[in-house]
Amino acid sequence: MTTVLGRPSASTTQQRVYGPTPDAQKPVMVTLKEVTKTYPNGSRGLYGVSLEVNRGDFLFITGPSGAGKSTLLKLLYGAERASSGEVIIDRVNVGELRGDRLSLIRRRIGIVFQDYKLIPSRTVSENIAFVLWAQGFTRKEIQRRLPPTLKLVGLQHKADCFPDELSGGEQQRVSLARAIVGTPPVILADEPTGNLDPDNSLQVLKILKKLNAIGATVIVTTHDEQLVQMSNQPVVQLREGRLSQSF
Ligand code: ADP
Repeated sequence: MTTVLGRPSASTTQQRVYGPTPDAQKPVMVTLKEVTKTYPNGSRGLYGVSLEVNRGDFLFITGPSGAGKSTLLKLLYGAERASSGEVIIDRVNVGELRGDRLSLIRRRIGIVFQDYKLIPSRTVSENIAFVLWAQGFTRKEIQRRLPPTLKLVGLQHKADCFPDELSGGEQQRVSLARAIVGTPPVILADEPTGNLDPDNSLQVLKILKKLNAIGATVIVTTHDEQLVQMSNQPVVQLREGRLSQSF
């Protein structure tokens, strides 16, 4: 068995498995095994990517535009399927899931996008509650979960505002609240600070770190090198669909 970066390789070839430092105490939460994604038009999103993220880890994925960051996250939440290789979350092979079983695994993943994707005609509370309602939570449970979630993102006082009454940073914090209100064990954030100034970016990072501190496995894509440096978290790099480790 070959060992690279202190981690046993998944196969007898020189395939490197990237990710934060392995920790025998923590089970693996997210695995990509030699994943390649080629889009129908022939564009290659990812090429032979192997990655392991343990439960409770925080990982940055950096790389320039077009490197494959969004593709990687889309494969994790099942919005795209790998052309070859395996994508596993919490021991479930996401690539094999369809319909209800895919919906079930998606409930275990909170997703944050660069452009927030809030419903403009709904208030902050309604935007957040909508996720729980769609998952069949009772009204009482929704009412129970909303206040602490709003508090965590510092938006108690904005509960009844509409998205266009909020700043970009506040809108992103609503989108964070929506991602976490169902207490998913995995949080994926695709360029969450891409539209934000440094102060708001830092706030978003602090919230993601807080969620990580209470147990969530967090994967954040970004091309913001400053944010990565400030955060002092493990980071891997994508370039033209291939992964490499940064130190
Ligand atoms: P990043 O998030 O790092 O900017 P993406 O994952 O969006 O990179 O894109 C990686 C590569 O895959 C790019 O060459 C992009 O053009 C291509 N790509 C992404 N989505 C699609 C798609 N739906 N159809 C065809 N090509 C795509």
